[in-house]
Amino acid sequence: MKSIALIAHDGKKAELLDWVATHAGFFQHKTLYATGTTGRLISDKLQLPVHCFASGPLGGDQQIGALIAEQKIDWLVFFWDPLSSQPHDPDVKALIRLAVVWNIPVACNKATADFIVHSSLFQTDYQRSVPDFSAHQRRFDPAK
Ligand code: PGA
Repeated sequence: MKSIALIAHDGKKAELLDWVATHAGFFQHKTLYATGTTGRLISDKLQLPVHCFASGPLGGDQQIGALIAEQKIDWLVFFWDPLSSQPHDPDVKALIRLAVVWNIPVACNKATADFIVHSSLFQTDYQRSVPDFSAHQRRFDPAK
């Protein structure tokens, strides 16, 4: 659980910033990824390096989704705003879908993030099971 992706829609940025500040110690020695604006704000707040992708509406959600598909993200913290429509709603859905596809823990609100950050599994060498999609990949293979 070393690589964490953080994203907040504009209406949720203050909440995410407060939450990361509350758990600042947890984020030391973690590899942090974020969409552009969220990442810049977190980096300023925590004084920690954050790998910032493009802003979410400009492709950042999809860049983080690509990292999930490459098994490079251990936890997605995504405070999406249920009270505002987003120009990149398809990207938002795609990102959450990929987290489910690859069995990545996802926190979409503060309560879930609190439960996960306090999980005793962080003290163990918990290995997330990576789903086996080999049957899907072989489905048009004439040799199968
Ligand atoms: P932002 O993107 O961090 O660049 O604001 C977040 C989002 O809306 O997906």
